[in-house]
Amino acid sequence: MHPFSFTKAANTREALNAGRAGGRYIAGGTTLVDLMRETVERPETLVDISDLPLREVSVTERGGLRIGALVSMAESAAHPKVRSLFPVVSEALELSASAQLRNMATIGGNIMQRTRCTYFRDVTADCNKRDPGSGCAALHGYNRTHAILGASDQCVATHPSDVAVAFAALEATVHLLGPDGERQAPFADFLLRPGATPDHEQALRKGELITAVEVPALPRPLRSGYLKVRDRQSYEFALTSAAVALHIRGRVIREAKVAAGGVATVPWKLPAVERALIGERPSERLWAEAARHAVDGARPLQHNRFKVELLKRTVERQLRVVGGTK
Ligand SMILES: Cc1cc2nc3c(=O)[nH]c(=O)nc-3n(C[C@H](O)[C@H](O)[C@H](O)COP(=O)(O)OP(=O)(O)OC[C@H]3O[C@@H](n4cnc5c(N)ncnc54)[C@H](O)[C@@H]3O)c2cc1C
Repeated sequence: MHPFSFTKAANTREALNAGRAGGRYIAGGTTLVDLMRETVERPETLVDISDLPLREVSVTERGGLRIGALVSMAESAAHPKVRSLFPVVSEALELSASAQLRNMATIGGNIMQRTRCTYFRDVTADCNKRDPGSGCAALHGYNRTHAILGASDQCVATHPSDVAVAFAALEATVHLLGPDGERQAPFADFLLRPGATPDHEQALRKGELITAVEVPALPRPLRSGYLKVRDRQSYEFALTSAAVALHIRGRVIREAKVAAGGVATVPWKLPAVERALIGERPSERLWAEAARHAVDGARPLQHNRFKVELLKRTVERQLRVVGGTK
């Protein structure tokens, strides 16, 4: 581990000043410290933000949900409003990591976490994300867990977060506070596809803090849920996952929010699947037909062709579960 200095921000102003001076925020520390130990990350100054007042979960005036950036994954998952309004968020969190990690880890840190690509985490391997211009060892290496969607010839690493898939499906907004004041970023614009600059992962400006994630109100009744497919049943990242929310009234699907995880460089919204569902009546045939669109544009690599079929089946199954025809 490289030497670094450590400071604890007593309030938001102190945090922003330290961030503007180049300090790196640390919340639960469950992933940043690992990366520092492996020397993948070498921040000179850590700014502990854990005392900032960003620990509230609240229902917005319109009936959406606002989750403070420092609310732990465990608290968010267990919160009665999160459970009742958006079970897909609770389920995505509960299927993440381990109980111990979920107690420490925060919502802000979760969406900021970096890829689990083994070449990224191995400082002896070529990785454009870690060391721009060095190449991508995964492209022709062992790429079983890598992306089939949203990749570039520079990077094929997946985004590992589960709850980010639920936020992408629900079209959440990220609330940010920086030296120039507050702003909001649609979730779809916050996490960046690699393109030619895989080292630019989030639309975060220098010194900016995530203060909250807001899930917008959706028409009720709303059924939602998260399915995660992985090599073992616990403590493992997704091979594929599906976040689904459906508003069904008069036996017709009026709203559909769907996204996939484990398969793309960012949480992957599935607008073609949503379009195929809206205005239709739930049926076995509909789930299968809509799920076919989940892999539109997929470009599998040598070792992850199985993800194409697996993703279709994951989405189909979760549509069936949430749509109530199982
Ligand atoms: C063994 C293991 C298994 C895991 N399995 C899963 C899994 O299955 N699914 C899943 O989704 N996750 C999984 N995780 C990841 C885990 O969820 C993250 O480590 C955790 O959410 C990070 O939160 P943190 O508060 O500890 O972040 P930290 O480690 O403190 O920070 C992470 C990053 O976020 C930045 N950051 C933190 N808060 C803010 C803020 N408010 N504003 C701006 N930047 C901020 C930091 O600067 C840093 O870059 C796993 C982790 C481990 C170690």
